Amino acid sequence: MAQLHLLGLPRIGPDRELKWALEKYWRGDISAEALIEVGHTLRLAAWQHQADLGADLITVGDFSWYDGILDHSLMFNLIPRRFREGPSLKGFASYFALARGHQDGSRKLGPSPMLKWFDTNYHYLAPELDADSHPQLDATALLEQVGEARTLGRPVKVVLVGPVTLLWLSRAEGGTDPERLRHLEALTTCYAELLENLHTAGVAWVQLDEPALCTDLPESWRSAYERTYQRLGSSPVPLILATYFDGLRENMTLALQLPVAAVHIDLVRSPSQLATALDRLGPNKILSLGVIDGRNIWRADLNKLLATLEPVHERLGDRLWLSTSCSLLHVPYRVDRENTLPDFLRHGLAFAEEKQAELALLKAALNQPRDTTIEDQLASAASAVDTLLSHPERNHSPTRTKLRNISAEDRQRTETHAERKRLQQRTLKLPLLPTTTIGSFPQDQAIRQARKALRDGAISYDDYRARMADAITDTIRAQEALGLDVLVHGEPERTDMVEYFGERIEGFETTRHGWVQSYGSRCVKPPIIYGDCRRRTGLTLDWMAIARAATDKPLKGMLTGPVTLIAWSFVREDIPMAAVADQLALCLREEIEDLEALGITIAQVDEPALRELLPLRKSDQPTYMDWAIAAFRLATAGAHASTQIHTHMCYSQFSDIMPNIKALDADVITIEAARGELALVHDLRNAGYTADVGPGIYDIHTPLVPTQTELQFRLAEILQYLPADQVWVNPDCGLKTRSWAEVKPALQAMVAAARAQREAL
Ligand code: GLN
Ligand code: ZN
Repeated sequence: MAQLHLLGLPRIGPDRELKWALEKYWRGDISAEALIEVGHTLRLAAWQHQADLGADLITVGDFSWYDGILDHSLMFNLIPRRFREGPSLKGFASYFALARGHQDGSRKLGPSPMLKWFDTNYHYLAPELDADSHPQLDATALLEQVGEARTLGRPVKVVLVGPVTLLWLSRAEGGTDPERLRHLEALTTCYAELLENLHTAGVAWVQLDEPALCTDLPESWRSAYERTYQRLGSSPVPLILATYFDGLRENMTLALQLPVAAVHIDLVRSPSQLATALDRLGPNKILSLGVIDGRNIWRADLNKLLATLEPVHERLGDRLWLSTSCSLLHVPYRVDRENTLPDFLRHGLAFAEEKQAELALLKAALNQPRDTTIEDQLASAASAVDTLLSHPERNHSPTRTKLRNISAEDRQRTETHAERKRLQQRTLKLPLLPTTTIGSFPQDQAIRQARKALRDGAISYDDYRARMADAITDTIRAQEALGLDVLVHGEPERTDMVEYFGERIEGFETTRHGWVQSYGSRCVKPPIIYGDCRRRTGLTLDWMAIARAATDKPLKGMLTGPVTLIAWSFVREDIPMAAVADQLALCLREEIEDLEALGITIAQVDEPALRELLPLRKSDQPTYMDWAIAAFRLATAGAHASTQIHTHMCYSQFSDIMPNIKALDADVITIEAARGELALVHDLRNAGYTADVGPGIYDIHTPLVPTQTELQFRLAEILQYLPADQVWVNPDCGLKTRSWAEVKPALQAMVAAARAQREAL
């Protein structure tokens, strides 16, 4: 009999209950008890759902108040030095201090660094290690949850991040591998003790997530796996080693030989690894197959999966387990409420709950004689998948023709950057160290209310448009008063830089409730790219025309780039991602042409997610970069030489993709560099980057307002690395989340700093 278990479930709540409760708690509107109650209810619902579904194990430990890795840091006493030496905080106060930072009188304790969880859009809080870190176990919180789950009377499986991956994801003071690995032994001792405790608490299985095994591992880390699991092998609870986000490849033998009872592999990202795994699987080992996609929202082809699974089931029997490829954290809760989606699309989707039902059906089809109920369900699944696949929206012939006609010249600007810069300067007449912003300006109550009123049908579109027009003109006036050199319209009409375009490009749909946790209480609602993408009408032209009429100053049009549109959406899989990217690029290319016709000769194509989609394995990276760069160039290379193309990137380290950034051939790149110690600027210089650069000179992610002196100092530092005629002056990201009270003095200081620096040159 094949068994069913789940690697992990979403935890934010179908209506983002956890988000609302957390935010109320932080504001002081509800008590800790009330927050605890919300968490309890959410966990119970998830467990009950698994029990009803017939899961053989109930998964515990996938819940978190803010971030699962942070939970591990606290459970193993991996407290950053500044907090160990800081004020003594307890319970939630200490937990949220690590997550969100803490102010102690005049002393500020920054939160732990937030990093992207492998190649997902989920952010985790990195454990911070130093020579004095002292791993120690306190499993109270986890054991409480085990106790709650045990009341359901089902066998319980606890999910943990494995010790090696936990260290792999951590940051050490010295920054080197030995610094991190020196803590491995002590940490393993804590895990061993934890496994004993879980056994005593009646836990049936423990799943140790080790996705680091799916990355290019240095030898020292491979041997760390052997050492660690030799010790954990004597655990009184049986262990499942869970790997996902890619195939195990050269680590397959290593993983299968570790002394654990079961190994989970991701068959969605790497279907071909099944054969190798079966080949090398020992005679007693359980193989858990991640067959249902935890990263995307398409309904599975169950008949095809059954054809793969049946022979495996015959061979392994009880030793075959079924699951999702990875945790379902990365998909929304349920499809059935999405009643604004067209039927052909809605029926082709599976969110977390539907995915669990797919697994239950697969399990039934393998374990039981095929009765008509099973057959009917399989048939209706197959027909839903077929309907979606063969829908005309998937194959829009004018779009396909355009795509076929793309030539190499379409991706190549005709003039060099130096020539373009001369031409652009003729019309733009910018001073040295030009000042600008990244695009968005504060979205105050009035703007949000107007958007909501439009959504609820409380105001007409004309009324809404008039309110947005006011916001745009006000923002233009404010920028003129501040003396900025290149103005923007301020993006008041955008809730989100991807969803906005998703609502306007054909081939996209947006959901009503499809929220996915990004970090803490922050959620995103990725749109769905289900069809051929094409531009219906202008994407931004109406707003840009309002802005153009409001000022004579240089004005920058604001677009989201093809790679970012893909990275932050759920994307069809029936055609290559490169083709989707080119379709999106053509939409942007047409938009830039129309902007030029409006007299807007600066266009910014934001690509904050360029780094995020980079494949985990080095050997896969060039292919990705090739199509990503090609798409950006297709979007931008149609612009006149006199049109200045900007791009903006943030959230990640770029040092390893520097040559790729150069290959984008943008005229200006603005980057988030306000926190990193100018390493980026250094890297750009070393990479021989000659186009213009705007290294963000202040961090917009904190409410602190920088002073002119600070900014002038910062600018002087930057100018030690880059010549003045290459440098732009700007904040490090959009200003959407800040208030005008913070933005005005900050930009004032920024403009003053740029002017002072110009005079000093
Ligand atoms: N233009 C966008 C803004 O200013 C860019 C946001 C981003 O980089 N994430 O909001
Ligand atoms: Zn940014």
